[in-house]
Amino acid sequence: MILDEEHKMRLVGKIDRMDTRETEEAVYVRIIDYKSGSTSFDLLALYYGLQLQLVVYMDAVTEMAQHHYPDKEIVPAGILYYNIADPLAEKKGQPDPEKIDAEILKKLRMNGLVNSELEVVRHLDRTIEKESDVIPVVLKDGEVQAGRSSVANRERFARLSQFVHRKLKEAGIGTYILFQETYHKESYEQLHPTGPKHDYAYHTEAMDRAMEGGIDDVGLGVLFGLELYRYEFAGLLMHAEHLEAVHGVGPHTISVPRIKRADDIDPDTFDNGIGDEIFAKLCALIRISVPYTGMIISTRESQQVRAKVIDLGVSQISGGSRTSVGGYTEELRPTDTEQFDVSDQRTLDEVVRWLMETKHIPSFCTACYRAGRTGDRFMSLCKSGQIQNCCHPNALITLKEFLEDYASAETRAIGERMIKEELLNIPKEQVRKITEEYLVKIGQGERDFRF
Ligand code: SF4
Repeated sequence: MILDEEHKMRLVGKIDRMDTRETEEAVYVRIIDYKSGSTSFDLLALYYGLQLQLVVYMDAVTEMAQHHYPDKEIVPAGILYYNIADPLAEKKGQPDPEKIDAEILKKLRMNGLVNSELEVVRHLDRTIEKESDVIPVVLKDGEVQAGRSSVANRERFARLSQFVHRKLKEAGIGTYILFQETYHKESYEQLHPTGPKHDYAYHTEAMDRAMEGGIDDVGLGVLFGLELYRYEFAGLLMHAEHLEAVHGVGPHTISVPRIKRADDIDPDTFDNGIGDEIFAKLCALIRISVPYTGMIISTRESQQVRAKVIDLGVSQISGGSRTSVGGYTEELRPTDTEQFDVSDQRTLDEVVRWLMETKHIPSFCTACYRAGRTGDRFMSLCKSGQIQNCCHPNALITLKEFLEDYASAETRAIGERMIKEELLNIPKEQVRKITEEYLVKIGQGERDFRF
């Protein structure tokens, strides 16, 4: 999962056992996790984020199964713990082998959460009459006794999944970024004939699932050059409009990559490649159409193109990027083995200096995530322009940190001059005063100030 522009969260786990049952309309999925202790499924622990594992597993499997069975509903049948143990039966009077077996079986019964539909229950335990020996379900007169069972209907399973998404977000997700590649369904399906990304609708609705799951900010992106650019542009704007209409929050960022040379891709094989002029127009039109969004341009664009589109509204650029595996550990830039041709070869220090020389303030600010200014709260500040009262001083503060910790002497001199001049442009006296105090403290070695 992408946490923000710099951080990703990788969840790794191994599902011990998974069973599926396919019908005409649905695929039922059961997950079992083997435990050596006496782990019990506990909704309270899940609520406090201490037992997310089974729901995360079910989510991952549901996603995979949906790609595998695109026309069927994927239904959770159960998430269960099986405690691997060798239980002993208590000896009461003369041993009765049947009773001993029954007692041991009871001790081995799995615990967790089971789908409350009777048909599902009967598939999980074909011999169930009253109390199941294998799953935490009790029947009475052929009905599932919810009060004496650990069950959930489909809707409750879906809510659990959303809740766990929210918990994971609390653990550190900032903006969820996923590129669409192309909005043109046929082209998309041709590009992904098989594999986990094959399902166009599922891929396109990822942002809705993320926002329903509690992720406040999402980032869109389309790879210009795969299809006709007019089509992609319309698709991008419609996607942004849809997010605003349905979730009340438009895209936090829009990335504008276009097809460039790579080791295994020849851009000439794609007929829809766009030139610099059209690319610049697209950037300007996105800026006008979605004025509140952050626009990201990659390092794959040349210095010349970057200079042009920054003036047209691009707000985020990278510097000193490496796109090959292990590229950041190399001293020299290994351009001939990179996944993409990196057109702007300058170091971060050079990019920062260039921005300042062309009268742009480089900002390393991530204050909004850290201050909880996300989602609709962030959007209202952005749309009203009030966010500028934070962005401007935060840019100066974070630039100062960069100058102190990483900049060359030349960049530092230019930066110090810029900070001095820009301080005078902070309109509110109180904010200016606090910014000055922060800058002094940063010079003395303190870090991490923000508005
Ligand atoms: S204060 Fe401005 S620059 Fe900083 S994170 Fe928020 S929007 Fe971005």
